[in-house]
Amino acid sequence: MEKLVSLCKRRGFIFPSSEIYGGIGSTYDYGHYGVLLKSAVKAAWWHAMLQERDDIVAIDSAILQHPRTWEASGHLANFTDPLVDCRACKQRFRADHLDQLACPRKPSKHPGEGAECDLTAAREFNLMFETTIGPVKESGAAIFLRPETAQGIFVNFKNVLQFARKKPPFGIAQVGKSFRNEITPGNFVFRTREFEQMEMEFFVPPASAAEWFAYWTAARREWYLELGIRPDHLRLRPHEPEELSHYSSQTSDVEYLFPIGWSELEGVANRGDFDLRQHSEFSGETLEYFDPRSGERYVPHVIEPAAGADRATLAFLADAYDEEEVEGETRTVLRLHPRLAPVKVAVLPLLRKDGHPELAGEIYRALRGTLTCEYDEGGSIGRRYRRQDEIGTPWCVTVDHESLGERTVTLRERDSLAQQRVGIDVLAAEIERRLSATWTTPKLAV
Ligand code: ATP
Repeated sequence: MEKLVSLCKRRGFIFPSSEIYGGIGSTYDYGHYGVLLKSAVKAAWWHAMLQERDDIVAIDSAILQHPRTWEASGHLANFTDPLVDCRACKQRFRADHLDQLACPRKPSKHPGEGAECDLTAAREFNLMFETTIGPVKESGAAIFLRPETAQGIFVNFKNVLQFARKKPPFGIAQVGKSFRNEITPGNFVFRTREFEQMEMEFFVPPASAAEWFAYWTAARREWYLELGIRPDHLRLRPHEPEELSHYSSQTSDVEYLFPIGWSELEGVANRGDFDLRQHSEFSGETLEYFDPRSGERYVPHVIEPAAGADRATLAFLADAYDEEEVEGETRTVLRLHPRLAPVKVAVLPLLRKDGHPELAGEIYRALRGTLTCEYDEGGSIGRRYRRQDEIGTPWCVTVDHESLGERTVTLRERDSLAQQRVGIDVLAAEIERRLSATWTTPKLAV
């Protein structure tokens, strides 16, 4: 993980937030390549949800919602973690994570195990961030930053049903920020207090809920595999009955073998009719589906695949990170799926003279209309290749003296390092062809 964190900082993917003020615990900012990578992850999710099917619609609900939302959803009463304080070191820990945490004074021990540790009894701590609406704190109404995007979907069920002309089975998808006042955030962007979720609520006739649960569990696993995650680093873990959330009758986690061990990447839950019934009861609105053909009226059941954009980005980065020996030197390379790579093509003039920059500039301007491209003429060609390898650019186009006469360029492939001479007039088509081809990580072979 340290190598990945340092690459992310060095190449401007992700860095600690508010660094000039000493940082603010477990909060991160995304730099240029981080923004492009996370956007590509979200775009791939939207693609799978919207473009590849016609039974899901999009929504973007507000972060601030009516406080009754969180009463109805159960978050006010149940969205808690057990918290213990240590009277000796004045630190706080999640009581159910003690065996994964280190004592701040004696890191070889867990909190509570050191001679000086003095833990309080566990008490429940609500993870929602509370603030007030209105200009004066005292007279304002208490309101919460949403801890998940899902409830913004349920409260809009009626609106969507009316306008989207859909009937169950159909889904509503949302991507957006969520906030949880985690007691022990950490492991880079794996667990932070502010993060982005990609959630989809799929409303189905009650009798078909189990079938759709199986469908979405398999489909979500497949999504990560198609984007190049190594199959031996991905698994499904069904929850034990005692682990299930209050609303869920069935949950399976898609887990990834992070550098910190197997951990949840995404949860797929069968939420039954819990949410629609709760919101119906608390709001007084009828939230059900009426089938005009059969005359049947029912509250749909919900299957929810809930993923984290930051956690997925971390998994793709961890899976892509590679080091190899090339001509006696260590090459660091991000073997990202080309669809996720922040930059698809780098255009590099071999020399900064002799017409190379002019022709390279021309090629760059032609490509950037459809592809995320970068133009770089600074430093030796070897250094420029290494820089592109580190940010995961799948192809580099090099313009040399032959390019001027023959109108051909060298197309260098990140993974195999193969170089091919390609005509400038067919370059864009060749890159598009490679971009849409199936890609598997060469890390599988090792
Ligand atoms: P965990 O058990 O890791 O706390 P969870 O089961 O509470 O996660 P969900 O409520 O199912 O998580 O949220 C769906 C997804 O949102 C998670 O699978 C994860 O990818 C992401 N997520 C949840 N909490 C965080 C967080 N604090 N930081 C980053 N991502 C998060």
